[in-house]
Amino acid sequence: MILVAGGAGYIGSHLVKELVKKEKVIVIDNLSTGHQKMVDENAVFVKGDIGDKSFLEEIFASFPIKAVMHFAANSLVGESVLHPKKYYENNVGSTMTLLHVMLKYGVKHLIFSSTAATYGIPTAGIIDETHPTLPITPYGQSKLMVEQIIQDYAKAYDLRFVSFRYFNAAGAHDSGEIGELHSPETHLIPIVLQHLAGVRKKVSIFGDDYDTPDGTCMRDYIHVTDIANAHILALESLLEGNRATAIYNLGNGQGYSVKEIIETCERLTGVKANVDVFERRNGDPARLVASSKKIEQELGWVPKRNIEQIIVSAWKWHQHHKSLGTTIL
Ligand code: UDP
Repeated sequence: MILVAGGAGYIGSHLVKELVKKEKVIVIDNLSTGHQKMVDENAVFVKGDIGDKSFLEEIFASFPIKAVMHFAANSLVGESVLHPKKYYENNVGSTMTLLHVMLKYGVKHLIFSSTAATYGIPTAGIIDETHPTLPITPYGQSKLMVEQIIQDYAKAYDLRFVSFRYFNAAGAHDSGEIGELHSPETHLIPIVLQHLAGVRKKVSIFGDDYDTPDGTCMRDYIHVTDIANAHILALESLLEGNRATAIYNLGNGQGYSVKEIIETCERLTGVKANVDVFERRNGDPARLVASSKKIEQELGWVPKRNIEQIIVSAWKWHQHHKSLGTTIL
């Protein structure tokens, strides 16, 4: 059985939907930002917090867990600057509780959700895993600290892990049944689509004076199902004993500017956006684009969905969700 911590969140719930096709899955989530209705019905769901040692002990004592996938974290860059305590407590402190209970119960396989924010301000056009890690926010720092901890635990306690540095996760499940559902929503693609779906008045571009071709920030958008599939490949590799420890970028290798994203959303939906230019957002590097060559070479993973497919799937999810009459702002 695979334990998915944070499996009710955006990326975790998409992973679970794929993983249940291959493995028995138990999801734990404190539902602070996740949604139980996003958890596939074929997975066992237990509400609880990874910082709660006795809760975790009960789970590990009750289920035959052979690996942990760990998505349970706070992930708002801006919030982490204002409330670093929350980020170090939840993302580092609670992860240590999870790690210690894993080791106590002899569970040695971990897949960890890390982030491109570990790199800080890029010094290269395309970022590979050898790029310096100098995070500029407590969020990025908290993820890098866990990567450092699990590397030490791997050496000392035979922990085997894969850590994924996600670039910009986006899109929704092909079924349209689950997708991105943050409150508040801060991510560009869902914000643009909410606007085009008529539930948000306008889109603000955060700065158009960056050193990029059109002046707006460039990001590498990667479909959430491509991310899910990378996790499954990594899990298989860990369980087969082929891989002991690895850190991989997950991105498409292509950068799209904020303006290009807005234009592509307009083109694909046939709706015109009302756009204004706002001031720069704190902690936003001009350009973040991944090289994912390492995972391609080592695990044979390549992203299968391009930016159009990302936006079309996210739009389908927004239409479905809007039809349910629920608020998505
Ligand atoms: N962005 C924007 N307007 C918005 C939301 C985001 O201009 O309403 C920009 C943001 O400044 C960044 C890019 O879009 O340059 C992607 O931001 P997002 O929050 O989606 O992801 P991040 O790169 O911060 O993880």
